[in-house]
Amino acid sequence: MSINPLKMLSGKVQAMEESATIRMAQKARDLAAKGVSVISLSLGEPDFDTPEFIKEAAYQALKKGNTKYTPVPGTMDLRKAICDKFETENNLHFEPSQIVVSNGAKQSIANICLATLDEGDEAIILAPYWVSYVEIVKFAGGVPVVVSAGIEDDFKVNAAQIREAITEKTKLLIFSSPCNPTGSVYTYDELEEMADVIGENGNILIIADEIYEYINFTGKHASIGAFEKTKNLTATVNGFSKGFSMTGWRLGYMGGPKWLADACNKVQGQVTSGAASFSQAAATVALKTEKTEALAMKEAFLRRRDLIIAKLKEVPGLKVNQPQGAFYVFPDISHYFGTTNGQVTIKDADDFSEAMLTEAHVGTVSGAAFGNDQCIRLSYAASDADLIEAVSRIKNALASFKKI
Ligand code: PMP
Ligand code: GLU
Repeated sequence: MSINPLKMLSGKVQAMEESATIRMAQKARDLAAKGVSVISLSLGEPDFDTPEFIKEAAYQALKKGNTKYTPVPGTMDLRKAICDKFETENNLHFEPSQIVVSNGAKQSIANICLATLDEGDEAIILAPYWVSYVEIVKFAGGVPVVVSAGIEDDFKVNAAQIREAITEKTKLLIFSSPCNPTGSVYTYDELEEMADVIGENGNILIIADEIYEYINFTGKHASIGAFEKTKNLTATVNGFSKGFSMTGWRLGYMGGPKWLADACNKVQGQVTSGAASFSQAAATVALKTEKTEALAMKEAFLRRRDLIIAKLKEVPGLKVNQPQGAFYVFPDISHYFGTTNGQVTIKDADDFSEAMLTEAHVGTVSGAAFGNDQCIRLSYAASDADLIEAVSRIKNALASFKKI
């Protein structure tokens, strides 16, 4: 008897898109495994090792036998350290009972969506957005309502656009700042205008994804949850993957209203339980220590941003803006739509990204995955030599593409 997987799998999972960032990173790895020299600028992952003192704290925790289940929302030590961090760095006031530590910020976002969305509820997502927001919202039964801004607006949506998108069914507003994929940073004033709109409504929860907080080139990071009108309407999500270069440790967290933390705790308690015990012990030390390494990584990213932007500006036809944070650039590549090199034709951003992999051996991600089909994303979490070489390969490959 043959099994038909389509009958076995849920409609929900069949409707789910695979993560484009992860797919493109895998494609680059597959090509490299065939012996091709590929430069992968597809996955958003710092290329630095986790700072030594954080690793040391994990070894010590393991040696002390810190290898058991922790409370589902995280150890009290870590939750207290997160409360202190929120207080001193973000002007957000939480008790440990309002914090839920998860297996990455991705799980924090999934917990919140599962805890708040009923079938048909709407979630406003600011585009360009991080790939997983849309799929998590849909998986939770919600309906993504995408509100977009283009390169001419520095990829930043304004408060009036958000006001227009709100309906009686709106439950969530989701965005990241600094933004993945654009690197754009919402200013204090822009956030305050958004906070006015959400505060006036009173029934919408904001998911403020601040995972790139420490990679912000504008100076001070602003949190939308710090405004009086949104302090009870915001779940602030953060984590250790980016600022501390701890992607493999799987540790993120959210701080929000107690009713939401309780609900996330319940969801997580049935799905995964608490995050890894020794990751939490090490992260507690990371939060309590001077952010010297995080600062050094930010400086390195800033230098690389300037390098890759300068190089991309030399590529004919690309439109590039100046990202203010994270480690991504999001050039508009639409000039090349309707071109061919004889073998490969580019009609959209997916084709462009694919062509850069096959023709230039550079891994990128199509902007379509982030809600913008005119652009591609390049991660500059790579060495100077790789960045220079990658853009030079792109430039050379594009030189042979001519209008059809
Ligand atoms: N939010 C954004 C904007 C991201 O880029 C990522 C990707 N790392 C995450 C959340 C999830 O991070 P993690 O699960 O590794 O904490
Ligand atoms: N967030 C990173 C990215 O955007 C890692 C991959 C993922 O989790 O989707 O590339």
